Amino acid sequence: MSAPFPTKSPKTGEELSAVTATPASEVPEIVLRAREAQKTWAEMSVAARCRQVSKVKSRLLGRAEEIAKVVSEETGKPEVEALLSEALPSGDVVDYWTANAEEMLESLDVEIDRLAYPGKSGWIHREPRGVIALIQPWNFPVALPLRTIIPALCAGNAVVFKPSEVTPRSGELLVSLFKDVLPEGLLGLVLGGRDEGKALCEADVDLVVFTGSVASGKKVAATCAERLVPCALELGGKDAAIVLADANLDRAANGIVWGAMVNAGQNCASVERVYVDKSVEKALTDKIVAAVKALRPGVDIGPMTTTQQREIVARHVSEAKEKGAEILTGGEVGEGDYAYAPTVLSVKDESIALMQEETFGPVIPIVGVDSPDDAVKRANGTRFGLTASVWTRNVKKGQALGRRLRAGVVTINNHAFTGALPGAPWTGVGDSGWGVTNSPFALDALTRPRFILVDRNRAKKELYWYPYTDTLRAIAVAFAKLRGGGPFTKLGAILKLLTLLPKRLLGRDAKAAK
Ligand code: NAD
Repeated sequence: MSAPFPTKSPKTGEELSAVTATPASEVPEIVLRAREAQKTWAEMSVAARCRQVSKVKSRLLGRAEEIAKVVSEETGKPEVEALLSEALPSGDVVDYWTANAEEMLESLDVEIDRLAYPGKSGWIHREPRGVIALIQPWNFPVALPLRTIIPALCAGNAVVFKPSEVTPRSGELLVSLFKDVLPEGLLGLVLGGRDEGKALCEADVDLVVFTGSVASGKKVAATCAERLVPCALELGGKDAAIVLADANLDRAANGIVWGAMVNAGQNCASVERVYVDKSVEKALTDKIVAAVKALRPGVDIGPMTTTQQREIVARHVSEAKEKGAEILTGGEVGEGDYAYAPTVLSVKDESIALMQEETFGPVIPIVGVDSPDDAVKRANGTRFGLTASVWTRNVKKGQALGRRLRAGVVTINNHAFTGALPGAPWTGVGDSGWGVTNSPFALDALTRPRFILVDRNRAKKELYWYPYTDTLRAIAVAFAKLRGGGPFTKLGAILKLLTLLPKRLLGRDAKAAK
């Protein structure tokens, strides 16, 4: 096993229940069972599948407090946050897909030129991929996996889910919600770390959906490349919030503090850089510092989930301090093994890790900028591109600026919450990966198009079948002129075709060629 499961809660310090890892050698068998179950599942109508899946909603919401408790114990996030970010939006995910999947998965007619291809009709069907390996991180251990599990099942797939080794109990609870709702084995569970994740990628799966760090994402992509299995990667972020001179500074400060501190900053879409117009830099900074100082440890903000993550945060902040950043509040580890004090810094040197790498902690670096253009240039200056926000009273200007940001999601006067909207695509560019969750675009990875063509042409031969003759060549040239020439060339081509086509279709050109 690559990583032992945590045995004590970062929140309470109390012992957590024991977890048994899935031996990597058993992974192929779990995938095989999923594949068997998927065959009958895929034969059911989309409506019937959605009816089954929709039953999970009442379990999810009925057990919301239990889910919040388990997630909170494993991750350290406040229970209210787990209710708001894990349980409630997941009910919306079930509703969205079970209400819309049938229409989204409908077959599409393909338009076919009747003259060039007489008697032919074609349709695109959206076929399930088959068995999907779902490898997930620990920061939102219920909400994130459900954003793939629900649409994947509605589309006719089986899913084998490997939760993070940090949150196996949340993963087990999630899978238990589907008990007796799905055919046995259709939703498989693999408990373990990197090695078990690798074993799952190497098993007989048809797609890997991975959410996690850039480093692991690259390894997953390499493993998938060896087997030519497609993968969808949702990776880290270094999100910027741009505050223009005309922004509502109270809203911007409160929104940025929430966007940066939710889940103790352990959110792929956390605000990790603030670029503010110098004319309002002091006013905004004062408000941010006041709002951060008002956060109540253990009530509004929990400890960090892992000691390793706290070490990364401490390293980024101490390097920033050494390189001249001014700590305005926080900047040190908190009580116990996991807490890190919510931190605000004023930064000038942007070459530091705090401004280039994912920090994934409760830290807000603020940089004063000369103009909106300066802010856009700096915001686009990392390898990441997940989400970004622009804060301004001029919504038109905000949108225009937003279109210039290298990010998969841009919000004007808000940040990071749109992952909770099942109809809005969640995606990134660059090192943030290329996967898409939520919205009909998620189905592009979870299904593959199959084209079916029916030919009702009764002719013995198509025009373009053998033998190749001079007449066929002349017809090809005439078609090119008909499609690409001016009016007179087109007319000449039509006249030519009127004599050439009957000759070809009656087979006289072939006889002449003998
Ligand atoms: P991680 O990369 O350490 O682990 C993620 C998952 O991958 C775990 O289940 C782990 O066991 C597994 N894994 C690790 N190495 C593997 C390998 N070689 N082959 C197969 N599986 C492997 O990430 P983490 O620390 O759990 O999560 C935090 C990261 O996730 C952050 O970078 C965060 O930004 C990112 N994240 C991204 C999004 C998004 O939507 N873009 C959402 C949440 C989290």
